[in-house]
Amino acid sequence: MDRFRQFGLQVQRMMAQALYGRNGFDDLARTCNVLAILLIVVNIFAQSTVIYIIWAVLFLYSLFRIYSRNISKRYAENQKFLAVTEAPRRYLKLLKLQWRDREYSRYYICPKCKQQIRVPKGKGRIEIRCPKCSERFTKKT
Ligand SMILES: [Zn+2]
Repeated sequence: MDRFRQFGLQVQRMMAQALYGRNGFDDLARTCNVLAILLIVVNIFAQSTVIYIIWAVLFLYSLFRIYSRNISKRYAENQKFLAVTEAPRRYLKLLKLQWRDREYSRYYICPKCKQQIRVPKGKGRIEIRCPKCSERFTKKT
């Protein structure tokens, strides 16, 4: 058992050493990895060569990012990725909240300033006033 733990520690040390001075897992690498895993699952059923190639590209690209030594360049790319995907990421976050609070609340995004607004559920048609920019809009809750 002790030997097993020692082996675990050694693997950890080796991984840390391998990543020393490297970019490591950033958002872009993680997203590529998640997409790659999803594609593997899809391809169990689809068995498509195209999906396999896309999987390989995503997987290799995420490895390239993780082990890249050009950290400043990878950082800039990651920031760009975050900026480009801001809207869909915000929407996903909203869906998550919506699902979590589905019994009592609904979430809306202000059409003017994009502020996220939470309103109680089951009040019928109500006028919502944005707390940030005072824009008014009507929604059915
Ligand atoms: Zn607003």
